[in-house]
Amino acid sequence: MRSGVYRYVRIPRAEAYLAAGWLATPAFDDCHHGRFAILMRACACNPDGVSP
Ligand SMILES: [Zn+2]
Repeated sequence: MRSGVYRYVRIPRAEAYLAAGWLATPAFDDCHHGRFAILMRACACNPDGVSP
C-alpha cells in the first residue's frame, strides 16, 4: 500500500523532487495554483517521503 505522502512543491524545486523519489500528480493542472507549484506524491521507492 502506498504511503500517501503528499507535498506541495514549488516549480523550481520539482525537478529535484523527481530525482529524489517523488512523482508529480495532475491534481492542480487545471488550477491557477499549478503555475507556481504542483502537488507531488512520494514514490513507492521513497515511502518515507524524504525530501531532496
Ligand atoms: Zn520510485
